[in-house]
Amino acid sequence: MGMSLADVDAVRVRFGFENSYARLPERFYARVNPVPVAAPRLVKVNVGLARELGLDPEALASEEGVAILAGNRVGEGSEPLAIAYAGHQFGYFVPVLGDGRANLLGEVVGRDGVRYDLQLKGSGPTPFSRRGDGRAALGPVLREYIVSEAMAALGVPTTRALAAVTTGEQVFRETVLPGAVITRVAASHLRVGTFQYFAAKKDVDGLKVLADYAIGRHYPEAAGAKEPYRAMLDGVIGRHARLIARWMTLGFIHGVMNTDNTSISGETIDYGPCAFMEAFDPAMVYSSIDRQGRYAYGNQAQAALWNLTRLAEALLPLLGTTEEAALVSAREALAGFEPQFVAAHLEGLRRKLGLWSAQEGDAALAEDLLGRMAENGADFTLTFRRLAEAACGPEGDVGVRGLFADPSAYDAWAVGWRRRLEEEQVSGGEIAARIRGVNPMFIPRNHLVQAVIEAAVERQDYGPFEELLEVTSRPYDDHPDGPGMVRFWTPALPDECVRQTFCGT
Ligand code: AMP
Ligand code: MG
Repeated sequence: MGMSLADVDAVRVRFGFENSYARLPERFYARVNPVPVAAPRLVKVNVGLARELGLDPEALASEEGVAILAGNRVGEGSEPLAIAYAGHQFGYFVPVLGDGRANLLGEVVGRDGVRYDLQLKGSGPTPFSRRGDGRAALGPVLREYIVSEAMAALGVPTTRALAAVTTGEQVFRETVLPGAVITRVAASHLRVGTFQYFAAKKDVDGLKVLADYAIGRHYPEAAGAKEPYRAMLDGVIGRHARLIARWMTLGFIHGVMNTDNTSISGETIDYGPCAFMEAFDPAMVYSSIDRQGRYAYGNQAQAALWNLTRLAEALLPLLGTTEEAALVSAREALAGFEPQFVAAHLEGLRRKLGLWSAQEGDAALAEDLLGRMAENGADFTLTFRRLAEAACGPEGDVGVRGLFADPSAYDAWAVGWRRRLEEEQVSGGEIAARIRGVNPMFIPRNHLVQAVIEAAVERQDYGPFEELLEVTSRPYDDHPDGPGMVRFWTPALPDECVRQTFCGT
């Protein structure tokens, strides 16, 4: 099908960029255009998200749109740049990291009135690339697309995926792989590491400009506080306490919780070797590069607090007129993390068990179940989901107890749970509905993601990608339980099980 110039004009992509980061001082970023690729091809445009952003999905999918999404053309009003940042990677400080393979195209204000970054990832080298090629392989792009969209559907604060394209070029990792570019949408790309970048340079003016920008964009209420920077720090700490609690209640393991991957807006960002756990094990680690288990499932709250402590340190020059006062303020702020995390986590667990009222023994009840799940290799997602059937009486226990190596471990726990359910004073059906509302049936299980990647990379077959996206976009629904659906909620068989994930950078 040929396309005339007139057609191209007809579908002209209008982003309506309104850029604010590009107005910040020059030393905050490097202006650099994406590096064009050989043969861009569209994999996917996120139609729903495009509309939420006021963008025309058809225009994005047009030849011109795909050229922009691949970095071959710079859209109208786009001011591409790579953001400078630093970061602690696995505990070691790197003073200059920055977007080594990402490009901030610009910002758009969505229909919700919120300003969003549009960023390409895999769009070629930048001054921050060090020895990297600036590219991304198709596999990690599809993983980020699926997992970030699943997280959004689950109701977790996260960056989103607007589009994915292939480049027609090869990238060289352990093997030769097809190249791809993902377009990511974020409330912003400000990270703990962005603050560390200026703090390490002792650039207090830069730090202040950055903090004022972050307040304006993410914590406007802090601007009117007696101590705005302390209020912003409190805000970041609170959002992360709640974010990690959400991850924990879904069995999500981020995998690379470095300070450069810790967002100031409180969104989940930088999906690399992330995974949803299957058999419950608090020590679970999937990432091939996390050899010490620093970012194991059960360490995530501690890791977040460690990262927030680095943020507080970076902010010290803004937290008080004397060093002593600043330290006192930072310590007070950080002390707020644990109680907020514990409360949010407990509230999340309560709801997973169908409990809307709060009782003394609820934490112990939840901990007891988790302990039995760990001892019995019970699937994290299905155990909670199947409590819905069990809520209607012991005759509904069959599904959940079968997930335990020793089903009697569940039976012993269920006695106390049922006693506690009575205090809710609602019907079993009501409890079941509550449980289904917060415990997903469908998560992007690792072996499913793996199969999606294999089909795309080896056979250019995107059918499995589309299917998994569709299923995980409605994670709480009871889809018609036809034979085709079973594989989407069934845990991996031993020979399908993915025990390690790779960041693939
Ligand atoms: P990540 O592990 O993806 O959070 O990346 C950490 C740092 O390495 C960031 O500064 C990235 O921009 C950079 N990086 C990762 N992969 C590449 C690549 N292929 N080329 C250039 N820079 C990269
Ligand atoms: Mg990163």
